[in-house]
Amino acid sequence: MAISKIRHHISLWKLKGNAYYCPVCEKGFKTFLPGGPSRRPLALCPNCYSFERHRFLWVILQRLWSERKIKNKGKMLHFAPEPCLVKKFKKTFDYLSADLDPEAAMVSMDITDIKFPDDTFDAIICNHVLEHISNDRKALSEIYRVMKKGGWGSLQVPMQGKTTYEDDRISSPEAREKAFGQSDHVRLYGSDFYQRLEDAGFQTHIYKKQDFFSEEENIRLSLAAENELVIAMK
Ligand SMILES: [Zn+2]
Repeated sequence: MAISKIRHHISLWKLKGNAYYCPVCEKGFKTFLPGGPSRRPLALCPNCYSFERHRFLWVILQRLWSERKIKNKGKMLHFAPEPCLVKKFKKTFDYLSADLDPEAAMVSMDITDIKFPDDTFDAIICNHVLEHISNDRKALSEIYRVMKKGGWGSLQVPMQGKTTYEDDRISSPEAREKAFGQSDHVRLYGSDFYQRLEDAGFQTHIYKKQDFFSEEENIRLSLAAENELVIAMK
């Protein structure tokens, strides 16, 4: 066993407990770990490395699947695949992951030029990608095009306030960090992001945290960073 793997197992054993619970890997811990650029406390699962947004998404998806509000089978396209979710999706979907970086996924793909015919995928996951893409409207029209009628997508982005802030003249990493919160982000979305989804043709369904999680679960799953999830449907 590699040393890094042994270390991982030792730190996991030390962190085993009941105060916190990760619904993605279904394990309990004394604490979650700090994570994200600002080292948010209680962000990261020490076992599967899920963030708040992954735990939030996974619980809501399971409920929507069991209530048959969205399909839990068929063809899935997963952009910029989050490792903690890949295994989960592979179990039920005819699964393909894609990324611009050929090392990061099963196929290399430009999200503004998806090499698949219209109406191919039942589900498309594209979380925390669009804020990196200059022509995000083209990306959204491509995602819409390759989604089947009746299909669904999770297109999480960081959002703040009501109005999206973008300005092509802000192009250096330092200026982008200052303006958009991260050196490789090209905009900071507001809640008008949902309108952008609708402009691309999607129907949006917004699911609120309080309708899925008790206050106790909010703490135990450490979901303070999340408020709502939008599911985009065709
Ligand atoms: Zn986990």
